[in-house]
Amino acid sequence: MSLIVTGTIGIDTVYTPSGHAEKTLGGSCTYFAAAASLYAPVRIVAAVGDDFPPEHRAVFGKFPNINVDGLETRKGSKTFAWGGKYLQNMNSRETLFTELGVLAEAPPKVPAAYADSEYVFLANTHPSVQMGMLDQLPKRRLTVADTMDLWINIAKGELLVLLRKVDGLVLNYDEAELLTGKTNSVTAGRHILEMGPKFVVVKKGEHGALLIHKDGIAALPAYPTENVVDPTGAGDSFAGGMMGSIAAAKGANPGSFDSIRKALAHGTVVASYNIEAFSLERLTQIGRADLDKRYNEYAAMVRI
Ligand code: AMP
Repeated sequence: MSLIVTGTIGIDTVYTPSGHAEKTLGGSCTYFAAAASLYAPVRIVAAVGDDFPPEHRAVFGKFPNINVDGLETRKGSKTFAWGGKYLQNMNSRETLFTELGVLAEAPPKVPAAYADSEYVFLANTHPSVQMGMLDQLPKRRLTVADTMDLWINIAKGELLVLLRKVDGLVLNYDEAELLTGKTNSVTAGRHILEMGPKFVVVKKGEHGALLIHKDGIAALPAYPTENVVDPTGAGDSFAGGMMGSIAAAKGANPGSFDSIRKALAHGTVVASYNIEAFSLERLTQIGRADLDKRYNEYAAMVRI
């Protein structure tokens, strides 16, 4: 039931209508791993530079289910850094800067002890890094990737090659439109299925997510909350809850329509906690009992 993720570990500067956070811990791998670890053990494969602050590294120690043996610290390299600013409605954001740092170097290595990983999440990073990881994981049972505008714009060819090799793709509505040229989410999702994956999850912020699976379609509302402080990492923690709950369930058919739909409800719940504070703060405060409580409330809300 081993879950593995590769993606970014970054230093974020974030502005939201509630305030701002300077040089805080972020990154797609970070948010994913923290969220997934609330459900199941998770192995990370990522690189940082020797400028990575010790106080950020210490945050990983607050999540006992995260295995950091695959975290490389590179001498003389710079950690990935990103800045973003959210608009008043918190649904749209503008990227202020992206400093690739270690992402522009050789991809991080998968430790030999991780080679038996079965559940694989390729969080946001360069598609060629995502692809490189796959070749080293022969026992994978379910592989899901995320992507975003930067990679669709600068590495679409590599992304299309990757899509032929994954079971699922998770992306935002705008990114689905950018990738396919289709404005309707269902049409865009079907278009992406033709590119290779068996399912696509189109995320729409506070408007929830749409699952377009070869065996059906499901719409999931977001957990309704007024307490949105910082939406950064909502997508990654959503994916973490999804993959973590799948790994914990150890089902016979992890990629089935029912398995993914249920997992998306867990993703929705963990993401709703994540956005209640900056950086990883909220995820360090909650446990399985909090997740189960909100999951039950959410399940009651969506039952018709
Ligand atoms: P999300 O809000 O779920 O889209 O994730 C935001 C996180 O992704 C931030 O913590 C950033 O450090 C990280 N990030 C931003 N841009 C990229 C990128 N192009 N590739 C990988 N990670 C990124």
